[in-house]
This record gives sequence, structure tokens and C-alpha cells, in this order.
Amino acid sequence: MSVRVVARIRPLLKQELEKDTIVEAAPSATEPLATPSIVRIPNPKNEAEAFSFQFNSVYDQQATQQQVFDDEIAPTVKHLFKGFDVTIFAYGVTGTGKTHTMRGGKLLAERGVIPRLLSSIYRRSRKIEKDTEGNTNIDVSMSYYEIYNDRVFDLFEGPEKRTPAGLPIRDNNGKTVVVGLTERPCTSLKDFETLYDQANVNRSTSATKLNAHSSRSHAVLCVKVTQVTGNEVRVSTASAIDLAGSEDNRRTDNGKERMVESASINKSLFVLAQCVEAISKKQNRIPYRESKMTRILSLGQNNGLTVMILNLAPVRSYHLDTLSSLNFANRTK
Ligand code: ADP
Ligand code: MG
Repeated sequence: MSVRVVARIRPLLKQELEKDTIVEAAPSATEPLATPSIVRIPNPKNEAEAFSFQFNSVYDQQATQQQVFDDEIAPTVKHLFKGFDVTIFAYGVTGTGKTHTMRGGKLLAERGVIPRLLSSIYRRSRKIEKDTEGNTNIDVSMSYYEIYNDRVFDLFEGPEKRTPAGLPIRDNNGKTVVVGLTERPCTSLKDFETLYDQANVNRSTSATKLNAHSSRSHAVLCVKVTQVTGNEVRVSTASAIDLAGSEDNRRTDNGKERMVESASINKSLFVLAQCVEAISKKQNRIPYRESKMTRILSLGQNNGLTVMILNLAPVRSYHLDTLSSLNFANRTK
């Protein structure tokens, strides 16, 4: 079991009025020539002073989608095919690049971690099937759901099929399952793209109704890889999670609905941090049962690899939120 925590600082956006960036990537003092692993940010109370936070890696404004995938995610695919689970989180304030990092844009170069991961899984499957002359057969299937106010909604079903309470979860032989969640077989990248795009429409449809709902829910894509060789069956899952925005809603909102949302987001992010910390410190007890998301993911249970990508905006208007993101990630080490 292991965890990598990496930071990614997004570039200034064209429409952004602020032109002044305050967050920067720096190499560590002991290895000045290595790739950056430090995020530097001014102390808001005394700007002459800077805070430094160390991570496994830091991607700056120039880092491409390909670079993030090649360095952080591509190496996990090998483990997935050995039968281990892989879990990738994008954590950060709304507007810092979580969806860009995970899903990305339409252009090939702009595609994010998720389509690249699928492409890599299919490529590897074809290669294994070819190398074993058809003795190994590999199936890929997936489920995609969002967790909103601690309720689970299937993104492969249209919003009209949603019940207010969401889908129930149940323990089944030590595994937590979401009852009634659709699992779709997906035999090619093209198949995947059609399904995934359709599901993301479901996500944004509810967004217009529920006021930026998508930034207040966790979107969880689970890709199950089943390898069958004779009598041997090997199953592993890659999960990619676009987390709810980590902003402190108490500062900006005060409606009752927002309070309920914030409480459930805070709790699930808090438990997530505790789990990641327990995994990285190799503790025996990982408190994954304490929130719905970590429980469904069985986080840290299957010898898995976890990658947490901390998305950051470079500008001053995010200063306090950026600091709290950095402090959050710092606790998980
Ligand atoms: P979040 O999902 O965290 O709310 P988004 O992914 O929607 O944030 O990003 C906010 C905006 O910033 C979007 O317009 C997105 O295209 C842009 N953006 C984020 N990261 C990058 C990046 N690395 N390069 C270029 N544009 C980016
Ligand atoms: Mg988003």
C-alpha cells in the first residue's frame, strides 16, 4: 500500500483579471536540480515571509496533461494488471483545475487523466491478450456515481430515475456494495467515451437545477478490470475521483442547505485525509468505514496505490483557500 501526494498549480486563465501570481513551484533545497517538490506561498499576515510545503512532486503552470499522466498515473497501470487497486483523487477549491486534470478537454492534448487511463488500460489489455495468444481474456466494465450530501446517485441513469434518498449501500461478505448501481461493460475507448460523455451530461443537468451542485458532490468513476486465464480470475479496480470543492463555505454562504452540504463535504474530506494519512504512515487501522465514499472504495484495503492530486490556483483571490488546501495535504503525509 502506498500513497503519492502531488500538487498541480494551474496557469492564469485568459478571462482572469488578476495577473499577479503568488504560488510557485520550487525544487527542494537538498536536490536543486531535481523536478520541483515544493510549493511556496506568502504568509498572508506578513508577505515578506513565505511558507514552503513539500510533496512527492509539484507540477507548475507549464505542466501538460501528458506529463501529469506519464509521471503519476501511467506507472500505476502495471500494478492494476497485477491485481491491485488504484485510486486517484483530485482535491481542491472550485476553479483550481480538478475537472481539467481528471476529465480535461476535447482536444487530444487536453485530455485528462481519466481518458488517458482508459486508453492505457485498453492498450495493455490488447497486448496481454496478444502475448498470451488468447489464453488470457480481459474484460473492462465501469460504474460512475456521485456522492452528494452523503447520498449516492448513479450517473449512468438519467436524473428522472433518481430518488431523493439515493442508492442504499450494504455490506456483503465484508465488501461494501451500492445496491442497484449500474455496471456497464465497455470494450473500447470509443465505447467508454460515449458512456462517459453521456454520464457527464447527467451530472451537469442536475448542476443547473441545484445551483453548482457539481462542485458540491464527489464524482467517482470505477473501472473494473477482470483478467481470466483458465481457472484463474483476477479482478482489480481503478477509481478516479473528482472531489467536491474544498472551499470553506462558511465564509461565503449561510443558507441552511449550504450548511448541510458543507458539513457533509467537510466530514467526507476529513475522513479521506485521515485514511490517506493512515496509509502513508503504514498504520494498521485505516478509518475507511467512517464515511460513505471511503467505505464504498474500501480505501487502502487491497494493497492498492493511491495518488492524491492537489489542485491549486496561482492567484491572490484564492490565498486563504490555497493555504488551507496545502495544510490539508500536509497532514496526510
Ligand atoms: P474545478 O473542477 O476544480 O472547479 P476546473 O477544472 O473547472 O476546476 O478549472 C477551472 C478553469 O480553469 C477551467 O476553465 C479550466 O479549463 C481551467 N484550467 C484548469 N487547469 C488548467 C490547466 N492546467 N491548463 C489550462 N487551463 C486550466
Ligand atoms: Mg469541477
